[in-house]
Amino acid sequence: MAVKIIQLRHKCIGCNACVEASPKHWVMSKNDGKSYLKKAIRKGDYYMKEVPEWELDENVLAAKNCPVNIITVNN
Ligand code: SF4
Repeated sequence: MAVKIIQLRHKCIGCNACVEASPKHWVMSKNDGKSYLKKAIRKGDYYMKEVPEWELDENVLAAKNCPVNIITVNN
């Protein structure tokens, strides 16, 4: 089963918490100081990708630690 991660990127405040929780999937942009969900597909303001179920926990932690609650994880 895959897990879907969604980020409402334009509301990111660049705190780095998601990168600390899951550096495999999140990286800070040097261009605008917001985080990127690596290899995500963009749909409007949303960026999304699927990851394997064993990477669920670290992305749930990223979502939990995001101070502006713009990360959603569905499994
Ligand atoms: S935790 Fe949230 S606000 Fe902080 S860098 Fe990640 S997406 Fe942006």
